Amino acid sequence: MASPISVLILENDSNSVFDLVREMKANGLSPLYRVVESSANFEATVLEEDWDAIICSTRAPFQSEISFFLKFLNEKKIDIPVILLSEPEDFHKNLLYMKSGVNDIIDRKTLLRLTEVLERERRELVYRKEKNTTETFLYQSLKEIQLQKFALDQANKVSITDANGIITYVNDAFAKITGYESFELLGHNHRILKSQNKSKEDWAKIWESIHKGKVWRGEILNTKKDGSLFWVDTTIVPFIGTDGSVFQYIAIHHDITDQKLAEEQLTHDAFYDNLTGLPNRALYLARIEQKIFTYNIQKDGYPIVFCINIDNFKRINHSLGNESGDKILIIFSERLKQFSDKDAIITRLGADNFSILLNHLLSIEEAVDYAYRLFEFLGDPIPLGGYEIYLTASYGISAFGLGGKEADVLLRNAEIAMFHAKSQKVGTVAVFNQAMQEKIHFQLEIQNDLKKALIHNEISVFFQPILDLKSNQIGHWEALVRWRHPQRGMVSPAEFIPLAEDSGLIVPITRFVLEQTANVIEEVQIKKGYPISIAVNLSPQVFYDQNIFHWIVDLHKRRGIPYSSLQVEITESLAMKNLSDTVPILSNLIDIGVKVALDDFGTGFSSLSYLEKLPLSILKIDKSFLNNVHVGNKESFLLISIINMAHDLGYTVVAEGVEELEQLELLQSYQCDEIQGYWLSKPVPFPEIIPFLDQFYKKETS
Ligand code: C2E
Ligand code: CA
Ligand code: CA
Repeated sequence: MASPISVLILENDSNSVFDLVREMKANGLSPLYRVVESSANFEATVLEEDWDAIICSTRAPFQSEISFFLKFLNEKKIDIPVILLSEPEDFHKNLLYMKSGVNDIIDRKTLLRLTEVLERERRELVYRKEKNTTETFLYQSLKEIQLQKFALDQANKVSITDANGIITYVNDAFAKITGYESFELLGHNHRILKSQNKSKEDWAKIWESIHKGKVWRGEILNTKKDGSLFWVDTTIVPFIGTDGSVFQYIAIHHDITDQKLAEEQLTHDAFYDNLTGLPNRALYLARIEQKIFTYNIQKDGYPIVFCINIDNFKRINHSLGNESGDKILIIFSERLKQFSDKDAIITRLGADNFSILLNHLLSIEEAVDYAYRLFEFLGDPIPLGGYEIYLTASYGISAFGLGGKEADVLLRNAEIAMFHAKSQKVGTVAVFNQAMQEKIHFQLEIQNDLKKALIHNEISVFFQPILDLKSNQIGHWEALVRWRHPQRGMVSPAEFIPLAEDSGLIVPITRFVLEQTANVIEEVQIKKGYPISIAVNLSPQVFYDQNIFHWIVDLHKRRGIPYSSLQVEITESLAMKNLSDTVPILSNLIDIGVKVALDDFGTGFSSLSYLEKLPLSILKIDKSFLNNVHVGNKESFLLISIINMAHDLGYTVVAEGVEELEQLELLQSYQCDEIQGYWLSKPVPFPEIIPFLDQFYKKETS
């Protein structure tokens, strides 16, 4: 069967055309041809059809146009083979034609090789076209892949390894996260990144699955070039070749370091104290439990819990500021770490409360000894902002089997012992016992009841008169708070005031006492026509948290209470420990005419040098001091010198707890100004004040 071929013939010699067609047909081609006789129609005709070949005469008028034709085809990117029909003698010219891009030249006389050339050219054309299509397709695919790769590269960190796990490609993003340059990674195994969270065995399993063609996804903790770590969420996709084996692996990594760090932070925050980095109560309890478990099995490593509370930390915080308070806590926790051996577990239970768990001590005696050594170690002054802060702490100890065998009981008992130590005297050590628990229980109950006491009108104020020894008049009174508990009856202020101070209830209680005091002053003024003066006891908390000065100014403005009718009593410890806070307030009070008394002198530090620093009006000598005084003994000389010195400083001296006439006479002979005590009167309730005054002055005048 003849093979069809479409040919464009540029020839104006009809004989030649005839020869050409005949030659083609004779050689088994079935030409579909068009003849163009002038060069003018060339462009249009070329574009009309998908020609297999152009046969062009080298004679006029085409001769001069050949280069134009070739240029046109070239520019239009029309791929049609051009075969010249030339004279054999034009050899030299033909060579030039060949160079300018014609595909072949045929001798027009013999037409030898015509069919052969045409078929060859058509074959090559088909091949070229196919190649072109494939190339275009390939090019497009490549472009697509590149686009995809670009997109992949943009959003991800990508690495490719060959079948042997050798890195053959990494994108910039991946190289960047590893801290290596791309070229440093290429040619290496992924082991260069020293993954931290997977063992050799883990990797063996992972690769076994990937080798089988399965996609793997997981989180890997890798190591950067500088040794720091980074987390990636990695997907490894195996690529399987025609032979069924994997020829490369593409790994897509997501940087999840921030997320992981945030997670770690969350877990850390849940179990560690933010400020000191020490384990918190929850983690600590778990550790105690572990130790108890081990002890139960091995009967070795006796768990002992220490509870350590910094004394007067609230005051430090208040006077130096929270920031300094925090610094002190950090230094304190560092010292605890320094002192304790590496097996010790240290925690900050909250605020100024620390605890240590030890399991190398063999007895309670050793534990007590340990606590005292720790006490000494922690006693070194802490330098802070130019000051030296001297800290003491109170220690509670509890041990396994001593009142408890569970972690929480052990810890609670140590805390109870610590509270007990503190209530005895700050800076001491106490070992837990059952009685402490009962006491704490009782105190907690009382504290609870106290919260309701004010609302339920269980709190009242009694007033105790103070006698002026020179004028023999009632110099002033002291307001003393009372609590009638619905079940327990009268509870001593010595018992509940410390609890009120701890719970903050002392603030509303003191305001209540002040209002009651104002009521008495008003009532006496109205009924007796003269003002009396009443002293109110002030706890440290009233100085820290509230402005006592403004309360008193308010009482004066709102209720017309003269300042001279009000006195305040502060204790030595309050005055001495917190000079910078109290001195200005006390000075202000004295300036407006409120007298300030130093209470219980002789019980605490009794540092005479401090007296000078304090703005005071009255010095109240404690009852216990009086108990030991007898004519001519050492205490009596001390008493005389205290009274004299107080007078030198311009203070009035009051002796407290005078129960006997002899005491009164002795004090009078020592020039003491005023006395307070049962000899004169017990504290009396509000309604008994006026009758007392009536009675007293009746006696005086009679
Ligand atoms: P204080 O300020 O030293 O009060 C004197 C205490 O001695 C009172 O005890 C009083 O009843 C008692 N007393 C008076 N004369 C004699 C006596 O001749 N012999 C004996 N044995 N005791 C006498 P009270 O009322 O039990 O108060 C105890 C402490 O409670 C007070 O000691 C004071 O520190 C505190 N307190 C009382 N009321 C308040 C208050 O309203 N606020 C504050 N912050 N503390 C208060
Ligand atoms: Ca007092
Ligand atoms: Ca007193």
